[in-house]
Amino acid sequence: MSAKFENNNLIVLNPLSKEELKSIPLSSDIDINQIIKKSKIDDSWSLLSVNKRVSLINNYRKALVKNKNKIHNVIKSETGKIDFDITIEIFTSLDHLKQISKIAKKALKLQKRSSGLMKTKKAYVKYEPLGVAAVISPWNYPLATPLIASVEALLAGNNVVLKPSEHTPLTSLLLKKIWDKYIGYENTFQILIGGAHVGKQLVNDNNIDIVCFTGSSVVGKVIAKQCAETLKPCILELGGKDPMIVLNDANIKRAVESAVFGGFSNAGQTCISTEELYVEDQIYEKFVNDISARIKNLKSGLNGDYSTMIVDDNAKKVNKHIDDARSNCQIIEGKSDDKNIFITPTLVLEPNEDSLIVNEETFGPVISVRKFNNEDDLIQKVHKTGYGLSSSIFGRDKKRIDSIVKKLKIGTVSINDVLTHYGIASIPFGGEGLSGIGRMHGKEGLRSLSRTKSIVINRFNFINEIWWIGRSKKIENLLNKAIDLLFK
Ligand code: NAD
Repeated sequence: MSAKFENNNLIVLNPLSKEELKSIPLSSDIDINQIIKKSKIDDSWSLLSVNKRVSLINNYRKALVKNKNKIHNVIKSETGKIDFDITIEIFTSLDHLKQISKIAKKALKLQKRSSGLMKTKKAYVKYEPLGVAAVISPWNYPLATPLIASVEALLAGNNVVLKPSEHTPLTSLLLKKIWDKYIGYENTFQILIGGAHVGKQLVNDNNIDIVCFTGSSVVGKVIAKQCAETLKPCILELGGKDPMIVLNDANIKRAVESAVFGGFSNAGQTCISTEELYVEDQIYEKFVNDISARIKNLKSGLNGDYSTMIVDDNAKKVNKHIDDARSNCQIIEGKSDDKNIFITPTLVLEPNEDSLIVNEETFGPVISVRKFNNEDDLIQKVHKTGYGLSSSIFGRDKKRIDSIVKKLKIGTVSINDVLTHYGIASIPFGGEGLSGIGRMHGKEGLRSLSRTKSIVINRFNFINEIWWIGRSKKIENLLNKAIDLLFK
């Protein structure tokens, strides 16, 4: 366990030592109500121009850089991650803030559109703030996930009420402290502390205009149902079972290293972690030999390639998947500083079709490998779980890769690459099926956090339109002629 509830307090624990890091008062029902109300009433942020918001977010980014070491230490204390994984998280988050701020200037600007045949009209699209965005986040990236979602909502002009995971609230509290100190606008970015109960109340509050949820598919479905009650918009960034497809003509060395990085960095606790490998028959043996050798040399532990599981319940689930696989197939294992504390790097060869590892998200340092020799069968297996977050394909034949890409019902496909797509802020991020609804990142993400308002302006106000009531038969004849002339 990395958090416990006691007498209306949340006790945050270090997941490795179980030392109590901090006791924080839980947000009461009254607090939640008041915080959201303050957020609803204060329109100072939403009235700023996009350029001004961008400039303040740039200041915020610089303030985060100033506090980089503090942020690093807090993430380390509440997650137990190794330093490299934390540094990558900080780097990716700050780079995202820089990229998305530039994108916002253009994406949220008033857009002039064609008015088609209506030459006497001008047409525009405005992207306006929606109001108050509820951001709810999980524990696996306590900086990147809440920060990126919050900043995107802020750039779109919304106020944000953030509820971080009960397992990792300290990083978000530090983000709030830095915001208040360097930016002001205290009602614009606020934090609620608690678990499911607090999240539920936040989603249900009538003053919330959009819900931006990142977490499990199980909770995502609950939130979708709650939002359906009032047709409240929601963006749901959920789980994944991200496959890597390795074709016969792939660069095996790059594919092996990508699988190792995609599957084991951050102890596999990444929604876009490579969880399953599909390797084509002609290279299967070589690929399995190479990746097995690589995995035998990987090590979990504080001085290893990745560290601890952040949440006990998740560690139990991962071990259950491994034990289930152990009972029916071959397993290759790496090393560990301490097998009782850290989950050993694990490769599962040819799991049974009904095993847990084939049918559920694992969310840990475990990858399965399956041989394939038929593309239709491959696509069917890839879609079996119903997840569709991200995927990768390794190979050289562009035509063949393109035909596989077309068949995948998945949000992102990386070709000869893995994980980096999350770091490219210009492309939308999100999944389909059990992996969620809607998109963050890119102009698509910023616009989905905005009210899209279409504006039509008539240029000449002194004449009536020829199609208004009172029109003559001549106009109808004219329109009929125009149909033949223009649309044939
Ligand atoms: P979770 O769904 O248990 O919790 C996520 C958040 O939702 C937490 O803050 C939690 O307190 C809150 N919550 C729980 N019940 C709620 C309810 N009924 N109403 C409102 N809020 C509620 O997920 P988790 O265990 O924290 O995170 C792991 C999951 O997150 C994995 O499935 C992972 O794939 C997914 N994830 C997805 C992405 C993505 O971008 N697609 C990114 C990171 C993690």
